[in-house]
Amino acid sequence: MIVEAIRGDRTFEEIPGVAYINGDGRLVANHHKLWPQENLHLPARITTKRIHDEVKGMVWAEDSRGCDSNCTFCSRRGLRGSGFSGDMSPKRVADDLEQLNNMDIYKVSFTGDDFGGDPERTFRIADEIIQRGIRMEWSVSTRADHVFERKNTPEQNARLKEIMKHCAEAGLTRVFLGLESGSQSQLKRYGKQITVEENYKAIEVLREIDVDVVAGYMPIDYLMTVTELRETLEFLEKTGMGLKVSNPLSVLRVQAGSPYLKLMKNEGLLGEKTEDLVFYKAHFKDPRIELVAQLADKWVEDLYPLIFGLKGEVATVTLAKENQNSPARNVETTLHAFRRLELEFLKVLVGNLEVSESIDRDSVNTIRETFVEKRRQLLEGVKSQLLMGAYGDIQTSRLLNCLKEVSQYC
Ligand code: SF4
Repeated sequence: MIVEAIRGDRTFEEIPGVAYINGDGRLVANHHKLWPQENLHLPARITTKRIHDEVKGMVWAEDSRGCDSNCTFCSRRGLRGSGFSGDMSPKRVADDLEQLNNMDIYKVSFTGDDFGGDPERTFRIADEIIQRGIRMEWSVSTRADHVFERKNTPEQNARLKEIMKHCAEAGLTRVFLGLESGSQSQLKRYGKQITVEENYKAIEVLREIDVDVVAGYMPIDYLMTVTELRETLEFLEKTGMGLKVSNPLSVLRVQAGSPYLKLMKNEGLLGEKTEDLVFYKAHFKDPRIELVAQLADKWVEDLYPLIFGLKGEVATVTLAKENQNSPARNVETTLHAFRRLELEFLKVLVGNLEVSESIDRDSVNTIRETFVEKRRQLLEGVKSQLLMGAYGDIQTSRLLNCLKEVSQYC
């Protein structure tokens, strides 16, 4: 449409979702329009084979867009202007997987914000994959209440389990759940509309049907108390999910367009927009949490290239069950070692800060130095392992590059 407008065959006013300068020199932004997914062509897949074969990268496929929920920290709905769209037919989803099979690709991750947004449709997708004999191991993201919902009857929850089981029979190997917290009051503030109990149950159901569970988690937010931080860490310990969350030191970012932004405004804690124009600076309600957040951010920043590299390798090599004992899987053991250390760091910090409302800076410094030294030793260990080639060829060369960027901490 833009090309047609430049040619003079149509006007810019007619094109949804573009911004342009009109004849009066004014900037005009047109409202966007959601494209019916049923009418989407299959992806061209021009670079997919190279990404898969040469770069050993992750291959993605599309199943749906959007999500019907309203989590306060999430801007997905606000920016998209709509909730879950599951109008892409199961046949079309399977067509794409078949296309990938024809390229000798048998592992894929789905992009949908909430794959399980329409559970009966999920069942039909799994059915289509099975009926057509498609050979694929796949992963999805969804909400815990599409696996177990507290308001459901036992029969309805049995059906949700049956749907996930059918997916597992069709090749589902991993589910990413947006758990976010193990503290009820924090979950409420996040607007998850999911209880801690539902989070527990969803993990249990998926484990029962032998599907790997990984999760999004935001243990630290601006309005939280030290007690909430302890509760949310205890959840990770009880479920063993501490090793499976995307970042146990994650600090919530106040996003433009999210309801959390209004919460912060009401509390008088909102600062300026950051340079990327996506997030806002903000102040913490409790100075002790602010200190934890600063230490967590610094830790994440120090290790970012290596942890990012490890997470990417883990997500790719562990999707296929047959990779269970491959050298590439050693990257998972390494990532877990960092996760254990980070969780221990947080736990010791919380234990110290919970004792009193005032901060004992000297003892916090001692804790930080102790853990930075432990981290240095761990990094030295990873370096030796990499030099011995313990991770497989591709992973070794990529991770050595990542390690170079954090070598000042070794
Ligand atoms: S965080 Fe996830 S579940 Fe919540 S609104 Fe956003 S996409 Fe939906």
